[in-house]
Amino acid sequence: MKNDDLQTCYLDGKHFSLSEGKLFSELAAPVQRIIRVKHPKIKSTDFVCNRDILHYTLQHVDTLVQDDHKKLIKLDRRLAKTMTKANFKITDVNDVMKHSLTVGEKIANAVARFGGSWTFIIIFLIILATWMILNGMQLFGIHFDKYPFILLNLFLSCVAAIQAPIILMSQNRAADLDRMNAKNDYHVSLKSEQ
Ligand SMILES: [Zn+2]
Repeated sequence: MKNDDLQTCYLDGKHFSLSEGKLFSELAAPVQRIIRVKHPKIKSTDFVCNRDILHYTLQHVDTLVQDDHKKLIKLDRRLAKTMTKANFKITDVNDVMKHSLTVGEKIANAVARFGGSWTFIIIFLIILATWMILNGMQLFGIHFDKYPFILLNLFLSCVAAIQAPIILMSQNRAADLDRMNAKNDYHVSLKSEQ
């Protein structure tokens, strides 16, 4: 085919040189599809000018953008729906804990906190020393628990027996708090993922 051999554009009937367009078969498949809608009889060997190719390519891009937009709107709606579901709510863990604590649990927490402090150890040591010195040396004639301090022994056993379950109770609440925090974190990740 010679260079000055003019081609006729199938779409607008104007004449162009071969370099000013393409054969229908050379066009991208989606563009071919759009042209076929308007020109069902077009053959693969028919010539289409660059202007028309541009026109239909732009139309194709336009539909792509619109499709994308529709998908986005759909996604947006789905997201909004999911977000309003109750199980996506993020709770103020500390607030919930504060209001769900029973009186017993509050006392357990306070005792556990006090029992794990230096104040407690020092006070305890002072009581022990006072008890032993008072009864051992029988100062001021006081000797309600003579050596080997059997009553003190009983008293210490009772403190240990009660302290253990109180600490466990307090630890259970701490575990609850951790679990709620983890759940919150999970919901936050879900939300950001959405
Ligand atoms: Zn044309």
